[in-house]
Amino acid sequence: MSELLDNEIKFLPGVGPKRAELLESEAGISTFRDLIYYFPYKYVDKTRFYTVSELDTDMQHVQLRGKIRRFSAEGGGKGKRLTADFYDSTGMVRLVWFKGHKWVLNTYKTDREYIIFGRPTLFSGAFNIVHPEIEEVEKKAARVSSALEAQYSTTEKMKDHFLNSKGVSKLLATVFSQPTLRLAETLPVSITGSMKLMSLADALFRIHFPDSNSDIENARFRLKFEELFYIQLNLLRYKDSRTKNTRGFLFSVVGERLNTFYATRLPFALTGAQKRVIREIRADLGSGHQMNRLLQGDVGSGKTMVALMSMLIGADNGYQSCLMAPTEVLAIQHFNSIGRFIEGIDAEAALLTGSTKKSERARIEKGLLDGSIDILIGTHALIEENVRYSNLGLVIIDEQHRFGVAQRAKLWQKSECPPHVLVMTATPIPRTLAMTLYGDLDVSVIDEMPPGRKPIKTMSFTDADREKVFGFLRRQIEDGRQIYVVYPLIKESETLDYKDLEDGLESMARAFPPPQYCISVVHGRMTSKDKDISMNLFRRGQAQIMVATTVIEVGVDISNASVMVIESAERFGLSQLHQLRGRVGRGADQSYCILMTSHKRSTEASERINTMIATNDGFEIAEADLRMRGPGDLEGTQQSGMAFDLKIADLGRDGQILNLARSRATEILADDPELAGSGNHLLKVNLRRLFGKKYSWSDIS
Ligand code: ADP
Ligand code: MG
Repeated sequence: MSELLDNEIKFLPGVGPKRAELLESEAGISTFRDLIYYFPYKYVDKTRFYTVSELDTDMQHVQLRGKIRRFSAEGGGKGKRLTADFYDSTGMVRLVWFKGHKWVLNTYKTDREYIIFGRPTLFSGAFNIVHPEIEEVEKKAARVSSALEAQYSTTEKMKDHFLNSKGVSKLLATVFSQPTLRLAETLPVSITGSMKLMSLADALFRIHFPDSNSDIENARFRLKFEELFYIQLNLLRYKDSRTKNTRGFLFSVVGERLNTFYATRLPFALTGAQKRVIREIRADLGSGHQMNRLLQGDVGSGKTMVALMSMLIGADNGYQSCLMAPTEVLAIQHFNSIGRFIEGIDAEAALLTGSTKKSERARIEKGLLDGSIDILIGTHALIEENVRYSNLGLVIIDEQHRFGVAQRAKLWQKSECPPHVLVMTATPIPRTLAMTLYGDLDVSVIDEMPPGRKPIKTMSFTDADREKVFGFLRRQIEDGRQIYVVYPLIKESETLDYKDLEDGLESMARAFPPPQYCISVVHGRMTSKDKDISMNLFRRGQAQIMVATTVIEVGVDISNASVMVIESAERFGLSQLHQLRGRVGRGADQSYCILMTSHKRSTEASERINTMIATNDGFEIAEADLRMRGPGDLEGTQQSGMAFDLKIADLGRDGQILNLARSRATEILADDPELAGSGNHLLKVNLRRLFGKKYSWSDIS
């Protein structure tokens, strides 16, 4: 399209090689287009002029118009400063500079009229403005600018080369003044007209140079809508074409295995939510289309049972299933519990992980090929190239946020006809995020806990209370309960973290000495055999305390454990804290989550801790997390394979715009699924421009 937009930024007048390099490395701006899409993060209102007599200490910023009467150098040494008396018709304020005195004196004159801008502070009875922005009235009139001044984030390095916010704004003015600039509309009239959207060209100009607050609002709305709309259109189009063009295995019967299991092995009554979800899954499996379903259910809501019953339906129809867990510990646990559940059922399960022995692996490979293994449980190893199935019909992915669209698409390659896919997650994903990250999936929710669970009590303590906490733990152990103590483990500081764990373990061992107490330890540096031994020690109740890193975060299920102590809790994110807490509260006893935090903690850390204390509801926590951190930091979103570098929309705040975008996209595809109509040609072109390279439905259909 417009060639000018694709020009390298160094060709923009006023940029040059050095600044071009900085724009690229510091702000990711390498073309004219990138610059235009470098949106301001806020605006400073310069619509209003104040007079000196109106000044008030509450004012954040004021703009005054007047003249400098007198400069004077004051103080000495470190307190040396230059001041200027600035007058308008109502009075005087003192302008103050702590550096750059020579420059100020050379630049500003006592006879000219200036507009000054800054924050007034009261100092020894007079208003001061420290390091004000100053501009000559005449020059300001000549500059392309607007009353609401856009503010751009820039780095120190950029500022050193006059690429401060004003500098960026100047470059933008230059781009917009290029006579050959064309900003072709990217939405069809059917949308811009009916929704009364600003044109793209206007929106892009006004977002940088607004004349009024309503300009900003309209420009933002238009750009946010467009951003979200194309993501939704892409996802829905993808979903649509996949459903139409890919056959799915037909699981038509509910046979002997599921029925026998239901009648003889199911140890509890299913919750209403579990029943509903299983019905939804059965309908998918029996539709002849490939299932692509996301199952959300808070920690402990009983997703494994849903997975198992789905896999038994697979086996009843002669298909193999695999269940993929994020860690080996979890895979082993799934294998053990599923093994117990299906005792006496004519279904064979096997476990395959990175540390499966060669001979066992050979046995499994054979069993997969000759069809004698019905259910394969494991880690990523399951979907590696060299694992071959005779007829893989169902893939279940447990707790893998990383499984975005692109990764799931890879599964297709495993067999001619794609297996059904069920993605399970206990990290409740806020609706807006789910619609974007998993927008091509159908969603089921288990919103009901198995009966008899008591809400977990959450408390926070600092080191000063450690003895008190230990006393509490001893009483819990006397009552026969078990305890987890978890230390953070963050990749960047792994070595330090292990030191924390070791120190912690030592102090635990002093406070809970053998033979009265037994502590088991699990962390990522142990061999899987040692991990296994430790896990079993705790699972069988021989160890009362388990000290661990976050390897136990997801899914570990020991119902007698009733206390979760999280060390350095301020270092964990909200969703991780919630996941960890979910390890307890699985039995009928009152459970506790104890957050140990350091004395000093950031406001944000306090907010997280308080949120944890205030609610047990995973969705509420996820929403709070999204608000506090933004989607970029939410677990797994970076690697999701989705276009997540949203330039302007904010999934934490723009839920309503997202809904609008999704429903417009749905309407359009309902009328014209192939986007073949001439009115929709523009949509097709832009989809290809935006997503063509990332992944495309045409690869799959
Ligand atoms: P999650 O959804 O976190 O994966 P699990 O599947 O591990 O949860 O289930 C948590 C615990 O609840 C397990 O011990 C499981 O056997 C038990 N459970 C599952 N469904 C029910 C039910 N309907 N009634 C009672 N207990 C259940
Ligand atoms: Mg689970």
